[in-house]
Amino acid sequence: MAERHAVRHASSGNCSVSGCDEPSVKTVSGKEASEKAKLSLAIGNGRAHLCKTHYREYKKATKTDRELDRLAW
Ligand SMILES: [Zn+2]
Repeated sequence: MAERHAVRHASSGNCSVSGCDEPSVKTVSGKEASEKAKLSLAIGNGRAHLCKTHYREYKKATKTDRELDRLAW
């Protein structure tokens, strides 16, 4: 099974989303990532490292807020 291999890799530089072992490209607030983007993080708090795919999801989720702000303004 490949899962055991993935856990080994997750020590650093990989995506913080549980079950994902892609290399991280961005570091974001773990709180925002879990609450706004609904990502299930393998970390409890602090910063979340996201891979390209999950960062896109995060950006999409947080962008909605900003667009609403802009519309209100
Ligand atoms: Zn990921």
